[in-house]
Amino acid sequence: MNVEPLRKILELECKKGYVDSAVIGGLDRFLRNWAGQAVESITASQLLNHFNKLHLVNSNYASLTKEQRQEWVNSVLGFLARVEHGEGKRDEAKLIPITSRSSPRARANRTVVNQSIDSPITIIRGVSSSLATKFNKLDVTTVRDLLYFFPHRHLDYSQRKPISQLTEGSEETIVANVWQAQEIRLGGRRSTEAIVGDETGNVRVVWFNNPYLAKKLATNTRLVISGRVSLFKGRHVFESPEWELVEDKELIHAGRLVPLYPLTQGLRPRQVRKLMKEVVDQWAWQVADFLPSELRERQKLLELPRAISQAHFPEDEALKDRARVRLAFDELFLFQLGVLSKKRDWQEGQPGSPLSTKAPVLEAFLQSLPFELTPAQHRVLKELLADLGKPQPMSRLLQGEVGSGKTVVALAALLMAAANGYQGAFMAPTEILAEQHFSTIHHLLSRAGHLEGKEDYLHSYSGLLSHPLTVAMLIGGITQTRKRELQQRILDGDIDIVIGTHALIQKEVEFRQLGLAVVDEQHRFGVTQRSALRQKGYNPHVLVMTATPIPRTLALTLYGDLDLSVIDQLPPGRQVIKTKWLRPGQRDSAYGFIKRQVADSRQAFIICPLIEESEAIQARAAIAEYERLSQEVFPELRLGLLHGRMPATEKDKVMRRFRSGELNILVATPVVEVGIDVPNATVMLVDSADRFGLSQLHQFRGRVGRGQEQSYCMLLAQNPSEVARERLDIIEKTQDGFELAEEDLKLRGPGEFFGTRQSGLPDLRMAKLSDVGLLELARSEAIRLFEKDKTLEQPEHKPLAKELARVWPEAGEWS
Ligand code: ADP
Ligand code: MG
Repeated sequence: MNVEPLRKILELECKKGYVDSAVIGGLDRFLRNWAGQAVESITASQLLNHFNKLHLVNSNYASLTKEQRQEWVNSVLGFLARVEHGEGKRDEAKLIPITSRSSPRARANRTVVNQSIDSPITIIRGVSSSLATKFNKLDVTTVRDLLYFFPHRHLDYSQRKPISQLTEGSEETIVANVWQAQEIRLGGRRSTEAIVGDETGNVRVVWFNNPYLAKKLATNTRLVISGRVSLFKGRHVFESPEWELVEDKELIHAGRLVPLYPLTQGLRPRQVRKLMKEVVDQWAWQVADFLPSELRERQKLLELPRAISQAHFPEDEALKDRARVRLAFDELFLFQLGVLSKKRDWQEGQPGSPLSTKAPVLEAFLQSLPFELTPAQHRVLKELLADLGKPQPMSRLLQGEVGSGKTVVALAALLMAAANGYQGAFMAPTEILAEQHFSTIHHLLSRAGHLEGKEDYLHSYSGLLSHPLTVAMLIGGITQTRKRELQQRILDGDIDIVIGTHALIQKEVEFRQLGLAVVDEQHRFGVTQRSALRQKGYNPHVLVMTATPIPRTLALTLYGDLDLSVIDQLPPGRQVIKTKWLRPGQRDSAYGFIKRQVADSRQAFIICPLIEESEAIQARAAIAEYERLSQEVFPELRLGLLHGRMPATEKDKVMRRFRSGELNILVATPVVEVGIDVPNATVMLVDSADRFGLSQLHQFRGRVGRGQEQSYCMLLAQNPSEVARERLDIIEKTQDGFELAEEDLKLRGPGEFFGTRQSGLPDLRMAKLSDVGLLELARSEAIRLFEKDKTLEQPEHKPLAKELARVWPEAGEWS
């Protein structure tokens, strides 16, 4: 039982002289809530007796005389002291339900107190359904949501100044008497003007547009005023400052650290603040602190109820910071526990299939490659093979720059699955990329073996395995009949490797024996996607590949469920791509440069301006730009267009024509961001480059420089903002993807860095992913806890398990 809030309130009540002003709404109302909760946790019969004698549940403090109040407060404080000193702890007497022997009135009160903090906010007095609707717009539906509805910042109105020492232009707080207040017209609007004073002087205060205040401010009313001091006709004046009457109550709006809440239409700041104060006073202490106390004390974290109330109405800056740390820690810690529990479920849920390394097959494949693997590729391949050999399914993230050669490593692993009699799936984010993988893999396998059969979307190769190795591609453009045929053969186990988009493979395909799933170019292979595979009864090894270089601490946090491999080395001979940020006036010279490159038989990409609207609008704009370029700029050249709305077969045709050299220039929407490989392309022109992040620009740049010829990246920026200029400067100078990613994180923050949809990031309100120290702390504490109690079964971890199940229901089977 947490007695501290009640003790504090009673002490305040005592200090204020028993005028029932310590909590908004009065003590009786507060007690009904508190007592109803408290009684549940009293297990010692002696204490319970004492508790019942105090009649907290049906207290009638409001009607007592001052002397009676004093006596009563003292007796309750005495009781609380007994509880706090741990009396009766060894007394195991069972709780006798209070309802069975309390008065009917008390029972009625109990129904109030039984409402949990997960009830809708309409149970709060003063919250009408129309007010609730407004809060719903802010994603606040339950009392708990409201408690976690934190201010976006605080105004520091805590330092009181004498009026004589006010400084123009700064935020100041005064405590003053109203000498005179009246309604006046200011700029044609009914307003209030007041003259207030303290022992050092007087000052004028005006509230625009608020004539009603004049009536509230009777002469001699004491006021706290907080706001910016301005100068009017040579004298100080407060213009529409925050204000509050000085009563025997804790201040809310002025004279303290004042919270500013995110608002929506129809919510007024003062109204929200007042409501929040009530809610925090009445409910915050009812939030169960789910952190094991050992951990909380060791890390000197605030108790949860205190953290919540200090996050709203902090006593001082230091407590405000500690509150933030505690709440941010919770977010990251729970996230880490969720991530670890996923890994646990993944690895222990169903046995995986150990795939042994078939050395002769692997050797033959590596020998057949037109190049030597880089040492980094060798190292990563070894890591993969070691994982595949284990009975627990692999879950590994492979990071590597664009062009670092991830595909060939993945193919070697897929080959091992096939050599062990299992199937492999290679999932790409788009159809174009799936097609490209199909053709890359075809290129590599026909060197390693012999192309034996070639049907639509299906190749088979002999000479590699004891049976012909079959590779199929599933994309949207395939006829239904053919698709069904392929699906049937996958189910029969007749096909070894299936290449397709994530969606297609997860939704439509049944495997006979899926041993390895490779997921290309996705930031986060989501929980749901993985569980979709599991629901089909597979527990394959999973390899997730990404070209986004994620700083290590962040990677460990976000992908804590995955082991990490990095190809940190490009194949030899890769050139530095000359990168230039062009000013608007240089557009024509950029086009001229492209013409000269084409005359030298090179090819170019032009990325259309980014349009945030729909794909349809983006497509229309791309068509218009394509026509402009074809007719006005490059009438004598052959151009192709690629946008997201084109049918897959169309895209395929354009890609083929560009790759074969038939087209000189490929105009594309930003869909070409990932993966396309055309060695003869030497120019990348990005229009409206200021609208893209560094990592994305780096990806575009990675499309060129894949052959022998010097390649160029030209970045056109119409009217770059300050931040965009900084970005463009950086990318001109830096070729290193990791460095760019770090800069991107700094400049844009992780939300934009990952793109909100794909990120799989938890809802972080207090935590910042740039706070490396706290990230590491949360991670190490989560690992430590997991080492002790992997399933969170120990009694002291039960509340944590409950909280985890609440915030992350899909994470695992929490009791
Ligand atoms: P990414 O990591 O971007 O997926 P890819 O696997 O597409 O990179 O490889 C990019 C290009 O580099 C391909 O043409 C591939 O054949 C080639 N490549 C891969 N590994 C090597 C290597 N060790 N030496 C030379 N070229 C390589
Ligand atoms: Mg790739």
